[in-house]
Amino acid sequence: MSESVFKVLVIGEPSVGKTSMVARYCYRDWIENYKATVGADYAVKTIKWSTTDTVRLHIWDIAGQDHYRAMTRTYYKGASGCIVLFDLTNKRSFTEAKTWKEDLDSKVLLSNGDTIPCLLVANKDDLPDKRVTHNEIAKFAKDSGFFHWSPVSVKDNRNITESICQLIQKMLDQEKESAQANPPGQVDEDVLNLHRPEPEPKHSGCCGGNG
Ligand code: GDP
Ligand code: MG
Repeated sequence: MSESVFKVLVIGEPSVGKTSMVARYCYRDWIENYKATVGADYAVKTIKWSTTDTVRLHIWDIAGQDHYRAMTRTYYKGASGCIVLFDLTNKRSFTEAKTWKEDLDSKVLLSNGDTIPCLLVANKDDLPDKRVTHNEIAKFAKDSGFFHWSPVSVKDNRNITESICQLIQKMLDQEKESAQANPPGQVDEDVLNLHRPEPEPKHSGCCGGNG
């Protein structure tokens, strides 16, 4: 039996669907209009990853307003993974995803000095008037060091669990690597993530039982 606890950040421009996505994923909820997030919201999701392994995500939904950017360092601290969201119908939210990723990479690193695993989510795939092509997104994701990108519709509840599972797998792999590099007792206590006595998950299926 083992439990992994990961802090996951959700960042991106205002109105791209961050709060909606966290609500969908954590509470299976869809509310048409949330109030704009002030500061940061916080949600916990527990996933039975396999018969023996549990993953607990602490998901931080960070306000996209520019004046909160100065505070991001505090929110980023100890994060194991990140989701950068943009809105497929809003070109600016796509170009700004680069800024968010750079901000992230400049402020949080794994204990081995690598950037944290980051997933790019192209939201509002249900809407017709797309402003960004798949080719552009794929190129940007590769150039900016995202390990993966996926089109998602929070509204239609499409591809959310699958995408986040990819991030979980990535964080578990990272945790395993870190445990090998830092035997127990030598782990930097300041790094909240990547710290698990058990060696590895028995199974890498996609969040069975997560619904
Ligand atoms: P945040 O500012 O990034 O937290 O964005 P919100 O979660 O508050 O969402 C902003 C607006 O986009 C709300 O009106 C949501 O209902 C809407 N929205 C979020 N996800 C989707 C989606 O997948 N499709 C559509 N059509 N609208 C969405
Ligand atoms: Mg919000």
